[in-house]
Amino acid sequence: MRILKEYIFEGRVSKEDKNSSDYKYVLFKVPKKAGILQISYNYSKGDNVLDIGVFDSKGSFRGWSGSNKSELFISENAATPGYLHGKIYSGSWKIILGLYKISQEGCRYTIKVRIGGINGELQKRKIIRPFKQEYAETPKKRWFKGDLHVHTNHSDGAKSIRDLVNEAMTIGLNFVALTDHNTISQNLHVEGYESSDFLLIPAEEVTTYYGHANVWGNRKWIDFRRRSMEDFQELIDEVHSQGLLFSINHPEDMDFPDGYWRFREVSRFDCIEVWHGPWSIYDYRSLIWWDSLLQKGKKIVAVGGSDFHGTDLPRLGNPTTWVYSDMLSVNNILNAIRRGHVFISRYVNGPQIYLYADADGDGRVDSICGDEVHLSRGDKLTIYAEVKKAKDLEFKLISRGEAVKIEKVNSSYYRVAYRTQVENDGYFRAEVIRHNSQESDNAEISEVLALTNPIYVRVKNQKNERKKK
Ligand SMILES: [Zn+2]
Ligand SMILES: [Zn+2]
Repeated sequence: MRILKEYIFEGRVSKEDKNSSDYKYVLFKVPKKAGILQISYNYSKGDNVLDIGVFDSKGSFRGWSGSNKSELFISENAATPGYLHGKIYSGSWKIILGLYKISQEGCRYTIKVRIGGINGELQKRKIIRPFKQEYAETPKKRWFKGDLHVHTNHSDGAKSIRDLVNEAMTIGLNFVALTDHNTISQNLHVEGYESSDFLLIPAEEVTTYYGHANVWGNRKWIDFRRRSMEDFQELIDEVHSQGLLFSINHPEDMDFPDGYWRFREVSRFDCIEVWHGPWSIYDYRSLIWWDSLLQKGKKIVAVGGSDFHGTDLPRLGNPTTWVYSDMLSVNNILNAIRRGHVFISRYVNGPQIYLYADADGDGRVDSICGDEVHLSRGDKLTIYAEVKKAKDLEFKLISRGEAVKIEKVNSSYYRVAYRTQVENDGYFRAEVIRHNSQESDNAEISEVLALTNPIYVRVKNQKNERKKK
């Protein structure tokens, strides 16, 4: 490779820098006829974590790797996973440093940039086609099983997309969302895997220092540089303007400092990841938060996600999100999620709860989870649940924060009915749980093995007309 230009940047960021901004930019000039950039960096370790990404001279996002990679390249036809290949424009490019954790002593860094000519050897790599928007169709409406939160080597996951797809298809998942942190290069590779039984969903885990959120179906990069409550509200509205869904991830996860969701007052978000990886006390708290919002009359969809990173294999599909859709396409799956036609199970073949309602008393079900039933005060309502693969577990039907029915499930196929007369707006949702033994680490919580979204009850002629969420 013919080197056109080389730079070495040395600098320091302090705690004060972090207080005034989460990001620092290092600018460098790219000469004409450049074909490849190679960037490497290192910094004083200890308590520091310095993330890195790149913007080109047109101001466009060209990739992000968090603190996961110390070297990267971008060329016309190829790039390090996490980065977007494409023209190496001349002019002023920017390295973005994310000041994730900065110690009291500050953090010293060194960045090396090498700019090669147009005939750099990496140019010969195969050209990656942009993805199509066509997906296979299936004839019948059915429940598709997916994992909405998975990382690949385009961020800090260990697996390539191809290996991930193999694992996912082997265990029987129908769809997987590629929620790599803050980048979209993985989404250039979603095509070619689709079949009537499998789909990759382009996605991004918007990973801020104040909480994480999944956006599914995005073609465009979603800017993660957000800090204030207003920033987050703007982000949610931006996501909606693109017709996409915004899902708050692991809102109660206190295991890492940027993981839990700070801005509880934001509104108009679509989903909450109430179940993040193997069931834990954090999920239990997320469930309580979600239920408290339902009690306030909000309609927010509960989803699950494994946050699989490639090495912890049994975790893929734990939990699995089941979505009722007539077609395995990005739009159809997202629309079904938007409507709340979703339940979550611990495994791809784990316990299942199919929740139905008969709102007109004709003995036939007319609604499933996520649907609204519109009734008048005093009308009769029957909620049915079909419970599969939950023998010896406990079934719970919950309305306004309270269990209205609890039964021990005594067979692998179980049906339960609950009849009531409606008085007010409300909701019914179901769980299958196992009580933890007194000796276990999580003795105070029960372990959830399946949970549904609610059937919402809306009472007509009620004085307090229900508010839009
Ligand atoms: Zn996360
Ligand atoms: Zn994640």
